[in-house]
Amino acid sequence: MLVDSGLNGINISIDSLDRNTFKNVTGHDRLPEILKGINILQDLNFENIKINAVLLNGINASDKDFESWGEFIKKNKVDFRYIELMQTGDNLDYFKKYHVSSKIFKEYLNKNNWIYQTLGKDAGPALNYINPEYKGKFGIIAPYSKDFCRSCNRLRITSRGDLRLCLFGNTGISIRHLLQKDDQIKELQDLIMGQMKFKKESHHLELGETGLTKNLSTTGG
Ligand code: SF4
Repeated sequence: MLVDSGLNGINISIDSLDRNTFKNVTGHDRLPEILKGINILQDLNFENIKINAVLLNGINASDKDFESWGEFIKKNKVDFRYIELMQTGDNLDYFKKYHVSSKIFKEYLNKNNWIYQTLGKDAGPALNYINPEYKGKFGIIAPYSKDFCRSCNRLRITSRGDLRLCLFGNTGISIRHLLQKDDQIKELQDLIMGQMKFKKESHHLELGETGLTKNLSTTGG
């Protein structure tokens, strides 16, 4: 039904391919269902499937974990990306316990002959790696790396209808009233373009400034 309605890309969160780890991280024993859903999408020749996992020290960040994802993308044409854990307004203890630099995954890819793929300037902040023997790709989202935000092309909308210029910024404006109208295009465009001049070139996460966002689950892309 989703594909028939025009869906042309999907992001799926899978923190581990190990069923128990997945259950412990998410609180849901639903990994098999999710993998079945991915098979259904592929049977429908759905092209744009991205899988994200947050890199968590001691949970899903060992060479064994990287290898299990390698086996998966060898057979499946999906983009798998590790996202480095980010500090938000409400997760300092969790962040300190589980944060690990995404450099460990980068080193693994370099050691195992994955090739860094340069992309156009609109491609967003993920670093992508390809290998001709694999159907899928690996990617890294490394928010603490130098120049991470340089290619940012993202705006965010929270679940309450606030426009955010950055996941971690202190600026935001409600566009909810316009999202509720049918003929909002021009007004919405003007409002968004007016805000763009306030978009900064970087977050300030390295200084521990997490901005307005208390919890990433409230904010979409
Ligand atoms: S500017 Fe903000 S939204 Fe853009 S890449 Fe950096 S952290 Fe993400």
